[in-house]
Amino acid sequence: MISAEDAIRKPLPTPDADTAIFWRGLHDGRLLLQHCTDCGHVQYYQQATCRACGRDNLVHRAASGRGKVHSFSVVHRAPGPAFKADVPYAVLLVELEEGPRMISTFTGGAPDEVTFDMDVVLTLQTINEEITLPRFRKA
Ligand SMILES: [Zn+2]
Repeated sequence: MISAEDAIRKPLPTPDADTAIFWRGLHDGRLLLQHCTDCGHVQYYQQATCRACGRDNLVHRAASGRGKVHSFSVVHRAPGPAFKADVPYAVLLVELEEGPRMISTFTGGAPDEVTFDMDVVLTLQTINEEITLPRFRKA
């Protein structure tokens, strides 16, 4: 069972061997995507091998930070006490300019401003020394 103290704390990502470089990139202001030098596939999130061809010749390159809202949902009921002050908020499925889609949240405006295909741009929210979260605002 989760303690009352933990329930009011937002869960944070835990960087591991595959994702540490991604989190370091966000800390340094860059959203890193993996590019396969064999087949050209671009992927998010980080993995040891290419999801298209299975090989491991992957390099990290910074994304432009531009994308479009592929889909979204507005959350009205907080999933837990830690998110109570945030509702309503929009969860986005952003299609990045480079191709991959990523789940994030909308910031810098009311959730009812979000529309399908809306142009969005990356904005970074520093949580602590290790974690910076990628979020998106209207372009
Ligand atoms: Zn590949």
